[in-house]
Amino acid sequence: MRVVAILVAVAAAAVFLVVSPSATAAGAWPSVRQGAGGPDVVTVQYLLRHHGHGIPADGDFGPVTASAVTAFQSARGLVADGVVGPQTWPYLIVPVRQGSTGEAVRAAQTQLNKHGAGLAVDGRFGSVTDGAVRAYQSAHGLAVDGLVGPQTWQSLLGGGSGPAPGGHALPLARGALPRAAYGAPHWNGNPAVDLMVSYVPAYAITSGTVDHYDSASCGIGIRLLQPDGSRFVYCHLSARSVAEGASVSAGTRLATTGDTGNSGDPHLHVEIRTADGVARCPQRYLLAIYDGGTPPALTSLPTSGCTVG
Ligand SMILES: [Zn+2]
Repeated sequence: MRVVAILVAVAAAAVFLVVSPSATAAGAWPSVRQGAGGPDVVTVQYLLRHHGHGIPADGDFGPVTASAVTAFQSARGLVADGVVGPQTWPYLIVPVRQGSTGEAVRAAQTQLNKHGAGLAVDGRFGSVTDGAVRAYQSAHGLAVDGLVGPQTWQSLLGGGSGPAPGGHALPLARGALPRAAYGAPHWNGNPAVDLMVSYVPAYAITSGTVDHYDSASCGIGIRLLQPDGSRFVYCHLSARSVAEGASVSAGTRLATTGDTGNSGDPHLHVEIRTADGVARCPQRYLLAIYDGGTPPALTSLPTSGCTVG
């Protein structure tokens, strides 16, 4: 998922959390709503057109655009509030790269022009658009791959405020558990990890949007939502430290661990779920963070047999 561009040496002495800083100029997803205008509105409209909503891309967020947004949200089980914000953007954006054509390319070209690219908004992703994407990525500390994927979309739309994407931290203070605890399989073989601690701070593994999540089995939980729809799930908490909808960076304290839900003994249960809802083994991901490396792509993680050899 995220590419950590630069891993700087962390002064190890009194550091409890290992955060891998990245040079990425970030961006929070903007909230675009009825009454708005400008390139972000045009971008919303092109992306809605890509998803089959036949509205004009006129830069005017009026009732027609609002009802298309509401329909788009309803069809995906989102809160149908007509606002294109952090919950809706990850579903609306479309990855485009050289060879792509159509409305989603127009959306990307509109964003690049917002940042001074001066492209023809023609829906054809050729070498000129590719060059503009790479120049933008290079100037903003992103992986220079020519792909307008979730990270580049968020940067283009965000305009430089909000927590930086990239960077990782262990979910617990470094001294809380030995390395082996992060590589142990879940007790019942499920794709998850149980970190056996009592009542201690829990931290954001990476940046994301906080979703308060409670269920009979999870107890008091938090889902840390990623721009591509994947999420990190924390269960059995005793208390949360962050508000619903908060944008956090890696290492932000999210909660105090505990013993709520179907727990048995106090511990932190951590899951990783990709955008398709499938749970993935977190072990290799967490060990990479423990070791100060770059974690693997979430989609590369196995879905069963979570043993780390
Ligand atoms: Zn568990």
